[in-house]
Amino acid sequence: MYRLENVGKQYTGTRTVTALKHVTLEIPAGQLVAIQGPTGGGKSTLLQMLGALDRPTSGTITLGSDELSHLPDGKLGRIRAKEIGFVFQGFNLIPTLTAQENVETALEPLGIPAAERTRRATEALASVGLAERTSHVPGELSGGQQQRVAIARALVKEPVVLLADEPTGALDEETRDEILNLLEGLWRDRGLTLIIVTHDSAVAKRAERRLHIKNGVVTER
Ligand code: ADP
Ligand code: ADP
Repeated sequence: MYRLENVGKQYTGTRTVTALKHVTLEIPAGQLVAIQGPTGGGKSTLLQMLGALDRPTSGTITLGSDELSHLPDGKLGRIRAKEIGFVFQGFNLIPTLTAQENVETALEPLGIPAAERTRRATEALASVGLAERTSHVPGELSGGQQQRVAIARALVKEPVVLLADEPTGALDEETRDEILNLLEGLWRDRGLTLIIVTHDSAVAKRAERRLHIKNGVVTER
C-alpha cells in the first residue's frame, strides 16, 4: 500500500528544521498502525506525507502505484480527495452545515451527482450510528457525535486509507472507547488501512503495529 524510501523532510524558514530523517517503511494494505512519539518528534509531518498534504524534501513515497513525492499539486489533490480519509482531534466540521451537509462536502470534489451524494451521506451517517441526527448542526451534537460525523465524512468517499490524528484526544474516556470501537469495526469490516497518531497508549495498544517517531526517526515498538 504505502512504501516510503529514505523519506526526509526539512522545513526552511528563519531556521532549518529536519522533521523526518531517512524514513524507510512499508505499510501493507489493511493494516492498523499506531504512530506515537513526543511532541515535535515528527508525527504530524509524517501524517501529512502519508495524506498527500505535503511532499518530502528527499526520498520517495508511493501509495499503490502513485509516487506522491513528484506529483503536481492537482494530481496530489485528486488522490487526497478520492483515496484518503482524514479524521482530526478537533473534528473540523463546518459549524453552519448540518451533519448530512458536512458529510456531503467530501463528495463534491469527486463530481458525484447531488442525489447520489445525499444517498451516500445518509448511508454513511447510519453506518456510524447517527441516522437520527442528520439534520443537526455540530453545535447541537456531543463531542463523540461530532467525531462520528467526521468519521462518516471521511468514509463516505470509500477511501483506501483512513488517517486519524489524535481522534480521541478531545473526548472523555467512555466516548474515547466508543469511537475506538467504531473505528476498529469499520477497519475490520471494510478492509481499510487505518493509521492513528496518538499520545494515548490505550489507543496504541489496540493497533496491530506500533511505530514510534522521535527527532524525525521512526522505530518499531
Ligand atoms: P509532532 O506532530 O510529533 O508534534 P511535527 O511533525 O509537528 O511533530 O514537528 C516536527 C518538527 O518540525 C518540529 O520541530 C516542528 O516544530 C517542525 N515543524 C513542523 N511543521 C513545521 C512547519 N510547517 N514549518 C516549520 N517547522 C515545522
Ligand atoms: P500536534 O501536537 O497535534 O502534533 P503540532 O503542534 O505538532 O500538533 O502541529 C500542528 C500543526 O502545526 C501541524 O500542521 C504542523 O505541521 C504545524 N507546525 C508545527 N510546528 C510548526 C512550526 N514550528 N512552524 C510552523 N508550523 C508548525
